[in-house]
Amino acid sequence: GSSGKFFVGGNWKSNGTKESVKKLVQDLNFAQIPSDIDVIVAPTYVHLPYVVENIKDRFQVSAQNCWVGKAGAYTGEIAPEQLKDLDVPWVILGHSERRSLLKESNEFVGDKTANALAHGLKVIACIGETLEQRESGQMYNVLEGQLSGIADRIADWDNVVVAYEPVWAIGTGKVATPDQAQEVHAFIRKWLADKVSPNVSSAIRIIYGGSVNDKNAAELAGKEDVDGFLVGGASLQAQSFATICNANA
Ligand code: PEP
Repeated sequence: GSSGKFFVGGNWKSNGTKESVKKLVQDLNFAQIPSDIDVIVAPTYVHLPYVVENIKDRFQVSAQNCWVGKAGAYTGEIAPEQLKDLDVPWVILGHSERRSLLKESNEFVGDKTANALAHGLKVIACIGETLEQRESGQMYNVLEGQLSGIADRIADWDNVVVAYEPVWAIGTGKVATPDQAQEVHAFIRKWLADKVSPNVSSAIRIIYGGSVNDKNAAELAGKEDVDGFLVGGASLQAQSFATICNANA
């Protein structure tokens, strides 16, 4: 990758118990992580306070979602100001599992991104096509729609990282080839140059997610427009995650 600091996020999804999270935090605190990259871990909401208090400052903490507005009468939701209050600086928005299982639209993800940024959070904004969309030639349309949903609602991209996560690669063991990832990352960077600004396009981190592991990370990291990773399954294992963090060496 060539833009900004290399960025590795661990998305723990809806995994973990008090016991397993304690062990993972302990293991991460002992892991060898290069000092010149950004490393983010995203536990479930209920584990956030424990992780914030117990993980080394070398790691930054992220939520996996947040509410679209202010705190208030929104049963079951967590608002950005509550994440700020817990000293959680990041939030993942638009993950494909939420887009598909919870029917989150491009507009809703854009609204949530704008709201999170307005409250001072940093956002890992996820986009990506399904296999059916890719095979039917819809991939670029789909990605443009997802990017527009965000670009139509925010002016400042300084606190945004874009995660390209092809749905067919998430949790499937079918990683995109380095060339496939590079092709889409270059498309995203060009789209941002044309529709947002050349400055945003060259400064923004575009990270890849989808079956990244300790074996395939280095080759992906060698691609010009791959500025880091969002890691699901392999982030639950401190040693694998640390190896991925060292992939840009
Ligand atoms: C993810 O869901 O963000 C992800 C990339 O998952 P996995 O690494 O397990 O494919």
